[in-house]
Amino acid sequence: MIKITNLCKKFGDLEVIRGIDLHVKTGEVVVIIGPSGSGKSTVLRCINKLEQPTSGTIVVDGHDIMDPKTDINYVRSEAGMVFQQFNLFPHMTALENVTLGPVKVRKMPRLDADSLGMRLLDKVGLASKASAYPNQLSGGQKQRVAIARALALQPKVILFDEPTSALDPELVGEVLEVMKKLAREGMTMVVVTHEMGFAKEVADRVIFFDQGRIQEENEPKQFFANPKNERLRDFIGKVV
Ligand code: ADP
Ligand code: MG
Repeated sequence: MIKITNLCKKFGDLEVIRGIDLHVKTGEVVVIIGPSGSGKSTVLRCINKLEQPTSGTIVVDGHDIMDPKTDINYVRSEAGMVFQQFNLFPHMTALENVTLGPVKVRKMPRLDADSLGMRLLDKVGLASKASAYPNQLSGGQKQRVAIARALALQPKVILFDEPTSALDPELVGEVLEVMKKLAREGMTMVVVTHEMGFAKEVADRVIFFDQGRIQEENEPKQFFANPKNERLRDFIGKVV
């Protein structure tokens, strides 16, 4: 589903991503962990074309997203993104936030978009909040709306960038539950998170990023029980 080859990204002289190869299979859940500033968000943002890679190739579902002819809206509908800060439009209701993409990008008729939006809000447990504005929702509810919004374009993969990091601890669980449900349904997911419990339970593969490189990757059991990289051992010791 995703094939990243020798991805490099520089901001000016700062080399942030230093040659990453990452393949994600259909239905796979890949969790990325690593210290702040190691380039985790930048990689997700390159996949979604929010950043332009300096070099390398990224192919999503057979489409070379680096090809200047590839439509950016198409790339973003293939690879949905969920951000730490939700990024909902404050002047739109939950339902309007969810239906905006289908209406604008997919030119879906309003009635169809509304019924799709209601189905997705129901899926994340928020059908009753369809008419609420973001400032009337808790952080966990906002993030669940953001997940419904990402699903609305029927993406091939969803990229989650620390989706629970901005939440009060008691609200983390409801968002992780929705993510687990998606994983069980076979959604292809790349998740940057510090939630090690989620990684252990849901990930097919866990990747440790440090200094712009993949330093270690393994299935979760081995990854946490037998970390080989010293900085990973150190990191696990700090966050668990
Ligand atoms: P992480 O998500 O792992 O915390 P990021 O991918 O956000 O790391 O950032 C990696 C590095 O790239 C950091 O040093 C950060 O300051 C730098 N960086 C990220 N975005 C930009 C940008 N738009 N301009 C300049 N530097 C950036
Ligand atoms: Mg980040």
